[in-house]
Amino acid sequence: MEELVRLCKARGFVFPSAEIYGGFRSTYDYGPLGVLLARNVKEAWWRSMVQLRSEVVGLDASILSSPKIWEASGHLKNFTDPLVDCRTCKQRWRADQLPTTEDGSKLKCPNCGGTDFTDARPFNLMFKTFVGPVEDDGAVAYLRPETAQGHFVNFANVLQTEHLRPPFGTAQVGKSFRNEITPGNFVFRTREFEQMELEYYVPPDDAQRWFEYWCNERFEWYVRLGIPREMLRLRHHSKEELSHYSAGTADVEFAFPWGWGELEGIANRTDFDLKAHSAASGQVLEYFDSSTGTRYVPYVIEPAAGVARTMMAFLLAAYTTDEVAGEERTLLRLHPRIAPYQVAVLPLSKKDTLLPLSQEVLQLLQPVAMCDYDITRAIGRRYRRQDEIGTPLCVTVDFDSLEDKAVTVRDRDSTTQERVPIDRLVEAVNSRLAW
Ligand code: ATP
Repeated sequence: MEELVRLCKARGFVFPSAEIYGGFRSTYDYGPLGVLLARNVKEAWWRSMVQLRSEVVGLDASILSSPKIWEASGHLKNFTDPLVDCRTCKQRWRADQLPTTEDGSKLKCPNCGGTDFTDARPFNLMFKTFVGPVEDDGAVAYLRPETAQGHFVNFANVLQTEHLRPPFGTAQVGKSFRNEITPGNFVFRTREFEQMELEYYVPPDDAQRWFEYWCNERFEWYVRLGIPREMLRLRHHSKEELSHYSAGTADVEFAFPWGWGELEGIANRTDFDLKAHSAASGQVLEYFDSSTGTRYVPYVIEPAAGVARTMMAFLLAAYTTDEVAGEERTLLRLHPRIAPYQVAVLPLSKKDTLLPLSQEVLQLLQPVAMCDYDITRAIGRRYRRQDEIGTPLCVTVDFDSLEDKAVTVRDRDSTTQERVPIDRLVEAVNSRLAW
């Protein structure tokens, strides 16, 4: 984990936010490579959830949201964590996450070892703000703590415009905010984070079948993109653990260095949300089946994933060291869809004679793949850098290229190299990346 945090900083994936001012409370900024990686995670999700399906459409609801939404959804009342203060060192903790003393009889402070705590108080995780110039009760708004409610309040709009019939879904990727009491483990738990959520509306009688379908489908998505099966597990929630709206929840968990941690939750939210918003707004939120003349409120199956946790899992699963020609190297065996760059174009030398052709090769490949272009240092060191940031292919332009109009394509994992004519390079790159 320490190695990964180091690599993330050194290679420009993730920086601590406001670092020049000493950082700011577990917030992070994404650097040049982190932005590419995060975009690719979201693209891969969107591709499998929207592009490759005909019954799912996109949505992008606002982050600033009406208190009425959160009152109806139960978040104002229920979206709380139990909070305790250690009386010895004054640190504040989530009571449900504290370790206990050896005999299990008391909670133990991870900071000072003390066992004297205040009573647990519920702490609402939503960020509250004011809209407009006056900070009074009428101006209160919340930053959404999940994207889900933005789907539900648009249920009728989507039905009217898209003529869909259950099963159908809306997909949304965007930021959510939670005033987490104990953020930590790098970007695993932060107060500002991005979610990728699908709300899938189904006939109530089919809900269990679709819940199982999405548990399987979402688990396999991580496997298809390169996470070894044994680093993943599907954990079903016990009855006591279920949220107030859920008839069944399972988490896709990843074997993080500190233990199993949630990447994504798949929940059968029943008709709780649509009924709650219908009751609070007075609007009809149901589906009318014209073929049978019946109306019903669909059940909702929700796979909800986090971008940063997924990024971390991909990085941790891809992080490898091996030996090439007696020298140790670090590499990220990232899937080509996930890797920040798919191709690096590397002129063998900085000499002017090679640069025009190298630029031509770069421009040939840029419409096809995200390309890095690097003319610094010796070629061996440039290969090492590309291995370390997970670039699947390096294309080297050398002095022979000027004569034979061909370049060398090097594979990250095997380090094998092959000569490819420039006029067949796009085809060769596409087939090697196996998009
Ligand atoms: P946890 O139990 O870890 O707090 P959760 O069960 O509350 O997570 P959900 O409400 O199911 O999380 O949100 C769906 C997904 O959003 C999570 O699986 C996770 O990937 C992501 N997520 C939730 N909270 C955070 C956070 N504070 N920081 C980063 N990602 C988060």
